[in-house]
Amino acid sequence: MESVKRRDFIRKASVAAVGAAGVVSACASEKTNTATAARSTETFNWKMVTTWPPHFPILGVGAEKFAEWVDVMSEGRLKIQVYGGGELVPPLEGFDAVSQGAAEICHGAAYYWAGKAPATQFFAGMPFGMNAQQQNAWIYSGGGLELWEELYQPFTLVPMPAGNTGVQMGGWYNREINSIADFKGLKMRIPGLGGKVISKAGGSAVLSAGGEIYTNLERGVIDATEWIGPYHDKLMGFHRAAKYYYYPGWHEPGTTLELLINKSAFQSLPESLQQIVRTAAARSNLWMLSEFEAQNHAALKELVNEHGVQLRRFPDDVIAQLKTYTEEVIAEVAASDPMSKKVYESYSAFRANVTSWSKLSEQQYYDTISS
Ligand code: CA
Repeated sequence: MESVKRRDFIRKASVAAVGAAGVVSACASEKTNTATAARSTETFNWKMVTTWPPHFPILGVGAEKFAEWVDVMSEGRLKIQVYGGGELVPPLEGFDAVSQGAAEICHGAAYYWAGKAPATQFFAGMPFGMNAQQQNAWIYSGGGLELWEELYQPFTLVPMPAGNTGVQMGGWYNREINSIADFKGLKMRIPGLGGKVISKAGGSAVLSAGGEIYTNLERGVIDATEWIGPYHDKLMGFHRAAKYYYYPGWHEPGTTLELLINKSAFQSLPESLQQIVRTAAARSNLWMLSEFEAQNHAALKELVNEHGVQLRRFPDDVIAQLKTYTEEVIAEVAASDPMSKKVYESYSAFRANVTSWSKLSEQQYYDTISS
């Protein structure tokens, strides 16, 4: 009986969907055919700035692939010229450049713009926060994207998720971290909310673009840096400048990368091109995460076996103290900025539900089934 009902439901749903689609497409095509025909040959040329060095693996290359996908899907109607950080504007000035219309689009990470609006940091991710899968669920299906658009509205920008690093590593240190006191006086390159946590622990957090970190670490301008994970960190050569490689990446459990687009430039595109941009952004979001996940293991093995990197886990009491500091940092940010409070309330409510489910699904899988 149950299966008959189910089959019946599936049949009815399918018929209804096909019928509705037919009616909608018939009406829509009559209304829009003329407009579409008139605009379909209009071409657009955009400049894309990025926070990454030119042709940077995965991140910069991903931005170039995004431009290529848009070009092919739009059959040349939207051409995007990609510039590495510093080629058109300095790497951390993409937000202003796009907001003011000097470029139409930027690829970067939202926490680079904390100085513009503190709430941007939540859209990159949060220390001890959600992983890539949960972060995507919040942004795409849990109201995150709508809040992100609301946050960028006063800057005449449209944001889109366009990449994720997965769980990061805890970073490169030139001395061991055996207790929370070892953070005192430590100069570390670490952006976003994680940087504020390091400051609370007595260190000083530095924000610098990717292209400058290695030299700063090698010259002792900084004592430690976090970046992403084994694959990218190896390419950056950090193992030649610091000995200890720590995990887990408590500060960035699934950082979302972003595209930010000048709102009037985006709105001037016909609907078809807007959808192409959104679709290519979603593909970038998946492509970058997949690349990091696919490459990290082999790179970690090479770092340890061939370069003698000392792998270390943060002691449990250090992690516990960093978590306490994180809660204090979040409370302070939320208390000082209404939009941060609003975004954090959405983030934390979503996280509570999704964590509950993850404990029974993924955590159980890792603990009992995966080996
Ligand atoms: Ca990082």
